[in-house]
Amino acid sequence: MPSYDAVLRDIRGQVPEVEPPAFQQEVQAKTGTPAFVLDVREPDEHSQGALDKAVHVPRGFLEMRIEKLVPDRDHPIVVYCQSGVRSMFAARSLSELGYTNVRSLAGGFGGWKRAGLPWEAPAVLRPEQQTRYSRHTLLPEVGVAGQLQLLKAKVLCIGAGGLGSPSSMYLAAAGIGTIGVIDDDVVDASNLQRQILHGTDRVGVAKVDSAEQTIRNLNPDVKVDKHRTRITSENALQLIGGYDMVVDGADNFATRYLVNDCALRLGKPVIHASIFRFEGQITVFPGKGSPCYRCLYPAPPPAEEAPSCAEAGVLGVLPGIMGVLQATEAIKLVLGLGDTLAGRLLCYDAMKTRFRELKLRRDPKCPTCGDGVDRSKIPLIDYEQFCAGPKR
Ligand SMILES: [Zn+2]
Repeated sequence: MPSYDAVLRDIRGQVPEVEPPAFQQEVQAKTGTPAFVLDVREPDEHSQGALDKAVHVPRGFLEMRIEKLVPDRDHPIVVYCQSGVRSMFAARSLSELGYTNVRSLAGGFGGWKRAGLPWEAPAVLRPEQQTRYSRHTLLPEVGVAGQLQLLKAKVLCIGAGGLGSPSSMYLAAAGIGTIGVIDDDVVDASNLQRQILHGTDRVGVAKVDSAEQTIRNLNPDVKVDKHRTRITSENALQLIGGYDMVVDGADNFATRYLVNDCALRLGKPVIHASIFRFEGQITVFPGKGSPCYRCLYPAPPPAEEAPSCAEAGVLGVLPGIMGVLQATEAIKLVLGLGDTLAGRLLCYDAMKTRFRELKLRRDPKCPTCGDGVDRSKIPLIDYEQFCAGPKR
């Protein structure tokens, strides 16, 4: 059985090392493929300071996560730990996994600091946040960096009703740092069948106040901006301008057009959903691209063809499904993950339990995102409110 010293000597002979000043020169020269810098220390060591652009994967998770992070086995990798020993073991594991160009930083982070080279203190989660968000940070696609992005994000929810309830609650639970809620209504007993932000004891309370109470209770990390108003051409730019994206849970065409036009002017994405009886639909209108809501519905329908929610009815759980899908798209947009529903309309039929997907195409003649349209000059119009009934 070889001793630890013998194993270490053996590894030292096999794993190439790079001295901190030489590696710093290599980074600054920006020639060739930049190395993937891997910090394999424990979280408490990493939080004290790290190399710029280093990706933190504690040694115990290295083999599990590396293929996702560095799919190309020939990509150059520089691994470091605190003193340059653990990183050699890590480098050997990587070569056993087939990585061909792995070096260990000689002397580790300690050696880097002693050489007077630049480093930074990474933003970290507080201990109670580490626990709260641990199921997120365990996902390599999210990690601590992604959770910090979520905490910095600002999402505006239009409506604290059927769609706004599940979307804002899941966004809050996920740790979206700022959630704006626009609603001018008060809680009515007929809302409670689907608007789970609110409870029986909140009937008669302003929906934004009730929403704030529920969200704060779910997650005190979240700041709730209450906007007890209706979005109009007068306030839309200011309201939407303060956020990264809009989750549109409006119950009427007038608001959807206004939100679309204003968001295009500001270059903000809109996660749109609507519900009707047993059916829901959802898509994403990208902030800077196409298609937009007017590509889907070029003109508002006549009022008699847009029945109010109070007249048509809706299955209570339906906005739950569509609102949760909206929250999922919003979180993906914040994290830059996966494929969003941009250009796709996802339709859900609760009666048949069937999802269908339709391709949405940009209309070159679209008045707001068509050819030659100057988005900064899109006029904001207040259409007549079609749906005067309670928010669905
Ligand atoms: Zn369009």
